[in-house]
Amino acid sequence: MEKEKNPLLREKVNAWDALAEGEMAKLNDYCDSYINYLSGAKTERLAHDLIIEEAKKYGFVDMNDVIKNNTGLKTGDKVYMSTGGRTVMLVKIGKKPLEEGLRIVGGHTDSPRLDTKPYPLHESKEMALIDTHYYGGVRKYQWVTIPLAMHGFFAKKDGTIVKVNIGEDPKDPIFMISDLLPHLAKDQKGKKITEAITGEDLKVIIGTKPVEDKEAADRIKLAMLELLNEKYGIDENDFVSADIQFVPAGPARELGLDRSIIAGYGHDDRICAYAGAKALFDQTEDPEYTSVIILCDKEEIGSMGRTGMNSNIFENEMAEIVNAVEGSFCELKLKRTMRNSYMISADVTNVHDPVHPEVDSPRNETMMSSGVNIKKYSGHGGKGGTTDASPEFMAKMRNIFDDNGVVWHASEMGKIDHGGGGTIAQYMAKYGMEVVDCGTGVLNMHAPYELASKVDTYMTYKGYAAFLMDIEA
Ligand code: MN
Ligand code: MN
Repeated sequence: MEKEKNPLLREKVNAWDALAEGEMAKLNDYCDSYINYLSGAKTERLAHDLIIEEAKKYGFVDMNDVIKNNTGLKTGDKVYMSTGGRTVMLVKIGKKPLEEGLRIVGGHTDSPRLDTKPYPLHESKEMALIDTHYYGGVRKYQWVTIPLAMHGFFAKKDGTIVKVNIGEDPKDPIFMISDLLPHLAKDQKGKKITEAITGEDLKVIIGTKPVEDKEAADRIKLAMLELLNEKYGIDENDFVSADIQFVPAGPARELGLDRSIIAGYGHDDRICAYAGAKALFDQTEDPEYTSVIILCDKEEIGSMGRTGMNSNIFENEMAEIVNAVEGSFCELKLKRTMRNSYMISADVTNVHDPVHPEVDSPRNETMMSSGVNIKKYSGHGGKGGTTDASPEFMAKMRNIFDDNGVVWHASEMGKIDHGGGGTIAQYMAKYGMEVVDCGTGVLNMHAPYELASKVDTYMTYKGYAAFLMDIEA
């Protein structure tokens, strides 16, 4: 006989137990498409390009064409807007006036990685090496002795763009950063983990074969430049105007005997970014409130700069939407649109690690397979560097998720004063809109390979879809 549940107590759910009949096939389809996306989205630019490519298939048009042709926008119209090839916004116009507010899902597509320095190429002790400068919260010791791929592009003086992608095709060569052998690591072993491998140690080995000319200086470096010139037409100076990144090589994969986990580089935050975009793509009806998906860049370094959420991108782009929908621009209408909006700040959080349980606060941690996570606040210390979602909005979220069969839980990121983290929530809350952090739990966040439960991955998508359609003012 099933034990009677006490309605006063919260019921902890393993999301695998809570799938509706026939839902497993949907979950698998969704996760397959996400694995495919993540395997291609190795940089923020690729993440951006793949979303736009997909958006076009779903009938989204370039907002620049709407502006140029002055065609305006009406209910059901779908547009995308790109800034700097790194940040993309997707908009589907809803039935209600814009002034009644938007339903926004905002994630980021940049992930921790190794960028090249302006003059990175040199040779030392019969090897050619590239100096890197790490980007975001990189734990340096994790990036040595793993296969790396080289991605990005060179912008040449004549304006041409040369794209680079080496190390993903199984026939491609890979790259690697060395580490000491244990036999000679006596001194290194005594160092703190943050000092054992330094930022300057992150030098990528790219080759060893010199040019034939024995009289030439830096014969190996020169040989590498010859190869790069042959393939991409670039020279040493072109590194100055380039976005070249080294990231873990290879596709995202299933993990576990039961294939229940997705292992891949860059779950943070492509897992939430993709869920938001896909939730919008899969909408079968026009939403009541205009749906907006904003996938930004530079979150990992504090959301600064032209393509970060601490810029004016969002309001500038919404100004264009207001103008196109209303036929004229009115700043007051834009401000009301923003103020009356509801937003999910779509970002990952840490899954509780049974090997390192001491960092989480009991009862308030994010368990593997507990569905999509809701955070009233992130930040650190006394809730610094965050926005605190209103209880009213939290109640709406609970209601919508429960009504739509979305398994969810609430948590904090780690114990008090053990660290913490911020998201883009605070940069959107400044417009007066309601914002809540909500996303997928990820094990070993920011590591070269991060892990996420498939059921949590799926529940994130399902949760965002429900939010876009059903959150009422
Ligand atoms: Mn993130
Ligand atoms: Mn992060």
